[in-house]
Amino acid sequence: MTNEHFELLVIGGGPAAITMAKELGSRVRMGVIRREAHSMIYCAMPYAVEGLLQPEKTLKADTLVTETGAQLIRDTVTDVDFEKKSVTTQAGNSYTWDKLVIATGAEPVLPPLKGHELEGVSTFKKEEDMFKVASMVEEGMENAVVIGAGAIGVELAQALAARGVDTVLADMADSVLPNLADPEMTAPAAEELQRLGIRLKLGRKALELRAREDKPALIGGVVFDDGSIEKADLVVFAVGMRPEVSLFEGSGLEIARDGIIVDSRMRTSIEDVYAVGDCVSFTSAITGEPAGGKLATNAVPMGRILAANLKGEDREYPGFINGAATKAGELFIGGTGMKEEEAKGHFQVLCGYSEFTTTFPIMPGAKKARLKLLADRESGRIIGGQIVSGQPVTDKVDQISMAIQFGLKVEDLLNFSYSSQPWQSFYPAHNLLVKAAEELSIQLSGPDRKPAVLVEAR
Ligand SMILES: Cc1cc2nc3c(=O)[nH]c(=O)nc-3n(C[C@H](O)[C@H](O)[C@H](O)COP(=O)(O)OP(=O)(O)OC[C@H]3O[C@@H](n4cnc5c(N)ncnc54)[C@H](O)[C@@H]3O)c2cc1C
Repeated sequence: MTNEHFELLVIGGGPAAITMAKELGSRVRMGVIRREAHSMIYCAMPYAVEGLLQPEKTLKADTLVTETGAQLIRDTVTDVDFEKKSVTTQAGNSYTWDKLVIATGAEPVLPPLKGHELEGVSTFKKEEDMFKVASMVEEGMENAVVIGAGAIGVELAQALAARGVDTVLADMADSVLPNLADPEMTAPAAEELQRLGIRLKLGRKALELRAREDKPALIGGVVFDDGSIEKADLVVFAVGMRPEVSLFEGSGLEIARDGIIVDSRMRTSIEDVYAVGDCVSFTSAITGEPAGGKLATNAVPMGRILAANLKGEDREYPGFINGAATKAGELFIGGTGMKEEEAKGHFQVLCGYSEFTTTFPIMPGAKKARLKLLADRESGRIIGGQIVSGQPVTDKVDQISMAIQFGLKVEDLLNFSYSSQPWQSFYPAHNLLVKAAEELSIQLSGPDRKPAVLVEAR
């Protein structure tokens, strides 16, 4: 039985924990306790199922942690004693700390529907999930139902369809990617998914999972609330993430519905205990109210800010803006900040649209790009934006995130200085962001706005 002391002990093995190791592994005596065999590049898992890369390529090397100087401990923490500043593990070892960082992440939700324990019913996060789905595809699986049409569900459904699996993508919402963009912006993505042969079942709830009649241990189909039954050799739930905080229940650590409560410096309610990443509950940078934000692009910056503070700086996490993107067939789609309906609960929402081509329209291969910008009528602040395009969109999403994060207003974007080149943008005469801001500006000036007049030059 080991009994070891660390200046800094991290529970976790995902992007948040790895960031802590990269920043501090060489500076302090640091231990990282991770329960699974490999850290993973989760975002690439669907593409491994699709066969675009070897599944093993999604496994991160342990050297990401060990080469920093931090000690990697492959074990599961089973108990935490905040008084004694110690953890106990499944292997029976104990470790004490001066400072503890909780980076335990989040677990995919598996709704407790009748039949959820059947073989062939899965979530999609773990290494085993990916290898299981990939091997079922290899073995010639015929029918799959993916429940949850968020980015993970959309990407996985495409991977299965590309491998010849008859795939249903279902969601309770009436549109795909409901947390990424508004329905009129995601409609082209839904059409793309259908063009790829994916059968969409939107506005429908899965009620029950049925076993196969000939093999009762295996999943056979999904019953929906309209009475329809979809055949399935595989059912994957991609319906959201729940913070992995089971270890701390009843420990005195303050926990909210969406995770461990931290302040903007990532300090928990217990001294010398910090939390970062998906296990944390935090607020929206736009409203200041608690908001979801289980993204690697939130987990890593939280880790960086905590590491900077532990090095003696004083930095604060500004809150979630939640820029994200995905791909549906030939379309790239992204969104950031607030969606229209959710924003209506907080602001008087104005929406401006623009549509141009991804290159000069006279160039070969020009594709459509459409952008939506949301602003608050009262303050003129930019509060959200979305884009669907034939070219990658993350840079545009990030421009809008920057506008939101730094409090830019519609009038600021009217003067946005942009670049243009025949292969990479529309003509210099227009820019998606500026054009959408112009549309918003007209709305902001209200119904009393005077028609433009030319002043006679005498
Ligand atoms: C399929 C998929 C695709 C995704 N795509 C994107 C994307 O495109 N862009 C994006 O920004 N985000 C994406 N995400 C989300 C992103 O992966 C997460 O936000 C990110 O991994 C969170 O990092 P984390 O370090 O906080 O937690 P995690 O990565 O969940 O890591 C938590 C770690 O803690 C360990 N742990 C928990 N409890 C214990 C314990 N008791 N003892 C020891 N170890 C423990 C876990 O085993 C795990 O290693 C995707 C997620 C999935 C599943």
